[in-house]
Order: sequence, then structure tokens, then C-alpha cells
Amino acid sequence: MICIAIDGPSGSGKSTVAKALAKKLNFLFLDTGALYRTVAYYFKVKNVNFSLSSEVEKALDEISIKILSSDKGQRILLSGKDITSEIRNEEISVISSKIAAIPKVREHLLKMQRAIARKNNIIMDGRDIGTAVVPNAEVKIFLTASPELRAKRRYLQLNDESIRMEKVLEDLIIRDEKDSTRKICPLRRAEDAILFDSSEFTLEETIDNLLKIIKERIKTLNE
Ligand code: C5P
Repeated sequence: MICIAIDGPSGSGKSTVAKALAKKLNFLFLDTGALYRTVAYYFKVKNVNFSLSSEVEKALDEISIKILSSDKGQRILLSGKDITSEIRNEEISVISSKIAAIPKVREHLLKMQRAIARKNNIIMDGRDIGTAVVPNAEVKIFLTASPELRAKRRYLQLNDESIRMEKVLEDLIIRDEKDSTRKICPLRRAEDAILFDSSEFTLEETIDNLLKIIKERIKTLNE
């Protein structure tokens, strides 16, 4: 099985790019951020006090997450209910970054991610795919862009007039800081990851460039 790991900060376009690449390569696409968001959503709905490890453990024992691949992309089911759109808001973004620093949560999701990666040719996007989840991934890409550009993309994606662009940038900088400085599996570029800054490229150019890089890499693996 081939694994392509795409890591990078919030709003770098990882999911959009990974989804498009998966389609072109006929690989499965796994947006691992959605798993953290689902746990965050569950903890919020169930009012889990995540500073108490007993509550966290109990919640993780009870949670039932299923990932489906459909024409519309990845769908996430929580206890059988499709919550794909409910997890895409700023509140869940902020909580997910907090719960992502809890070792038990990472352990739980790590197992789930590895089990999926073992069975499929896959493109996974996240923060620690190339460093922790699949450190022997055949291709590793670290995708980034300037904070302002990433915030602008996130802002347009949210499409919510009640939220100011400055607030999105502020949240994104805090989240970058949290994700990069946490003790467990922080966001960082794996030494063998290809760095790609998409600031100067359109989405199509980014996809085309990365597709070339991936195809060349896979070709050398087969030689
Ligand atoms: O990628 P997305 O913004 O949806 O991820 C939500 C949050 O989940 C991130 O801010 C990060 O804290 C966490 N995350 C993580 N490791 C991953 C994917 C996401 O810690 N592999």
C-alpha cells in the first residue's frame, strides 16, 4: 500500500489539495482533522470535562466514529449520525485544537488512522501524518502558506458574515502556536518531507505541481 502524507498548518489548503490529488490518483482520501473535530464535537455535546482523564477515557470508550467515502467526499458519522457539516465552525476548530493535545485522544485516533492506512492506497492530511502516524509514508509533503492568506481562505470557507476576518486570523495564529508547541506530536515538518509554500500559486497550480512531485516519487519507488 502507498501512503502520501500531507501535513501543514490550518488553512494551508491541505484537505482541498489532498482530496483533488486522491481523485486524480484514485487513492482513498482521509482528512484526519475531521477525526479531531468529531471528538471535539462529541466532548462538547456530552459536556466532557477534558481536564479529567477518567472522563476523557470514558468518552473515548463510548464514542463511535465511522468514516464514509462518497461522491461528495469524506462523510463522518458519529453514533450513526452524519455530522460532516456540524464540525466545520470556529467553535469546534478551537476545541479540536485543545483536545488534540490530550495524549489519550491522540492514541485513540492514531490507532484508527493506522488501521485505515494499512488497508488502502491513501492520501492523509493532518499535522503529524509524516512524523507520527505513518512515519514510513512513501511520499511526505509539508504544505504551507502565509498566515494572512490562510486566514483569508478560512474566512471565505466559513462564509459567515457574523465573523470578522481579523478574528479568523487571530484564532489561526493561536491555533498554529498550540499545534506547533504541544508536547505530543506537534505540527512540524518531517525531515524528509517536501516543503511546498502555496502562497504564490493558485489551487490548480498547487495541485498540478504536487501531482508531478508525487508521480515522480512513486516512479522512483517502482524502479
Ligand atoms: O485540519 P483541521 O483544521 O480540520 O484540524 C483541526 C484540529 O485538529 C487542528 O487544529 C489540530 O489541532 C488537530 N489535528 C491534529 N492532528 C492531525 C489533524 C488535526 O492535531 N493529524
